[in-house]
Amino acid sequence: MGRIAIYPGSFDPLTRGHLDIIQRASRLFDHVIVAVANNSTKRQVFSVSERLEIVEEAIRPFPNVDVDTISGLLVDYLKAKKARILIRGLRAVSDMDYEFQLASFNRRLSKDVETVFLMPDDQYTYLASSMVREVARLGAGTEQFVTPFVARKLRLKFAKRATQ
Ligand code: ADP
Repeated sequence: MGRIAIYPGSFDPLTRGHLDIIQRASRLFDHVIVAVANNSTKRQVFSVSERLEIVEEAIRPFPNVDVDTISGLLVDYLKAKKARILIRGLRAVSDMDYEFQLASFNRRLSKDVETVFLMPDDQYTYLASSMVREVARLGAGTEQFVTPFVARKLRLKFAKRATQ
């Protein structure tokens, strides 16, 4: 079965930075599962099924990458998948506080889980889904930040909102 790594996140929406991390993880591990969080506490632009569809489209070039949704505890999901590796992306130092907190918390919940941090290409250091959502909301194109499929979805989403 090999080494399975889980890459969890909101992915609202998936950006080129997330894809960069997915690609790196796919080279390091036998099987990568992108786990789209059904996070009810966060206000979302895309529904879970829309985010799933977006990830599905983006991971087509990677035969060892799959997508799934996750709603419960991350460590329980890892156990169910017989996985021990958690992938997270580290952009700048500003990510560290939150990411270390999360990794430490997950380690306390399960000693078996190892968080592996991957650094994206420099061009993605200041790229965040929240920024992309804001740019799209203000009517600008997002092609440089996301795949053409996502840019189209964002355009449709905010055009629809404007007419509502
Ligand atoms: P969450 O809400 O769980 O933080 P995100 O979708 O915002 O979900 O991010 C998932 C993971 O991907 C996090 O570890 C985050 O730091 C990382 N990430 C987000 N954007 C980028 C990027 N541009 N480059 C590398 N990693 C990123």
